[in-house]
Amino acid sequence: MIKTPYINPFSSDAKEIVSKLGQVDTLNKRNEDLMIIVNHTRSQNLNDPHTLPETLTDLALTRFEWFLFRKTTENQEKKYEYLFNPEIYEYDVVSFYLLCQAVAIKYGPSSHEAKLVLDCEEELISQRLEILKAEPNDFQSNFLRKTLNQLIDTNNIYWTDLKEVFDMGKLDINELLLSNGRVVIEYEDFIEEYGALIHNRDPKTMYEVTAGVQIKSKLLLSLIRLYTKQYIETVYEMSKRMVEPNQVLLDLADRIKEVQQKAQNLKYSVAGSSNYIDDKPVNYEIDAFPPCVRKCMDGIKSGGRNDAIVLFLTPFVSYARLCPGIFSKQQQDIKLSDVDPSLEITLNEIIPMIYDAAESCSPPLFKDQPQEKININSKLGFGLHSDLKLDNEGETHWYTPMSCEKIKLHMPNLCTPSIDCKKIGNPLTFYNRKRRLMNKDSSKRQVENNGD
Ligand code: SF4
Repeated sequence: MIKTPYINPFSSDAKEIVSKLGQVDTLNKRNEDLMIIVNHTRSQNLNDPHTLPETLTDLALTRFEWFLFRKTTENQEKKYEYLFNPEIYEYDVVSFYLLCQAVAIKYGPSSHEAKLVLDCEEELISQRLEILKAEPNDFQSNFLRKTLNQLIDTNNIYWTDLKEVFDMGKLDINELLLSNGRVVIEYEDFIEEYGALIHNRDPKTMYEVTAGVQIKSKLLLSLIRLYTKQYIETVYEMSKRMVEPNQVLLDLADRIKEVQQKAQNLKYSVAGSSNYIDDKPVNYEIDAFPPCVRKCMDGIKSGGRNDAIVLFLTPFVSYARLCPGIFSKQQQDIKLSDVDPSLEITLNEIIPMIYDAAESCSPPLFKDQPQEKININSKLGFGLHSDLKLDNEGETHWYTPMSCEKIKLHMPNLCTPSIDCKKIGNPLTFYNRKRRLMNKDSSKRQVENNGD
């Protein structure tokens, strides 16, 4: 039997669970009941016992890990199967709140980490709802009705009440059935409004096509995202008045950051990639990216999103991947296709990295400024076109990365220099220098190890 807190962490039952199980001194203690559920989950991969959660903070972290690694090779099949075992609902709810509190206190509601937690929750609940689809339609509909009614009154809600939901861009007003401003969600309201107009058709089918389970699920996901966002904001405001934040949460926040960086490295670089060849494509070494690029990849939260993504990040990530030694080449006026003739690397790695950073901005850059995709193509040398086509190459110039001086002048918020920034004039020079140093260090370590 699926309990509502398994789907909705803001239900009244969920709040009771948190007050019962969420005592600070138990969060880092081995939880035998949790371990029994994990170990007895059907199809759970038990090959790597030390990766299975033993405490509630472990569970919070593995929830986050599942989300970040789900599309990488790290996501060994069935490693996180316990997250889809409904019996875990009580511990799952506590771990959800822990995750929200940790990012709120340490990184704040506008942070990249907070956005990842929102995405993580949405994706997790979405997959759980997918599993629910195996149940008969009536069961799904009633379950969703019960769960939604813990957040809104599904028989009496107006589109104006959902303004904040629409603002998040996950649900469009045009997807909803409206009658005099009221949103028609439940079957009885649908029949009351439209029953007399339906002839020779099955009203139930009509309802399912125009509203039904699909809209209920989408509305529920959007509301959970909104409530999660508001919860993180509230915790953040409260934390400003705290004398000393809870150490368990601060430690968890540090572990979250580590996992996030590991996932980012895995996503964009290939292990053992460092063949140092300056004027040919080389795999990314994310650890060698300068602070300004890191900051931009985490998303710009205040003004200046356009310049940061289009003018700054686009040239940097394209040259860093395709021709990091551009400044030491005699001929600097090269075309992108000289180094990526099929555009395979550009389309599969560079553009996704730029789009990821744009999506992480607040608000996401393309949400209100989709034309910036064209400007990105233009900065790569492909003119002002929505598609990146070799035919258009040369209509504009492939911009080289701007200097530190220009960045400090036009985007001062991006520049938070580290010790490695001393005496360098361009973020790409930082990247090349740092890669050399890192490679030297690892060769030295290897020699030392071989000598042992
Ligand atoms: S000094 Fe240059 S490389 Fe370092 S953070 Fe500032 S802009 Fe980036």
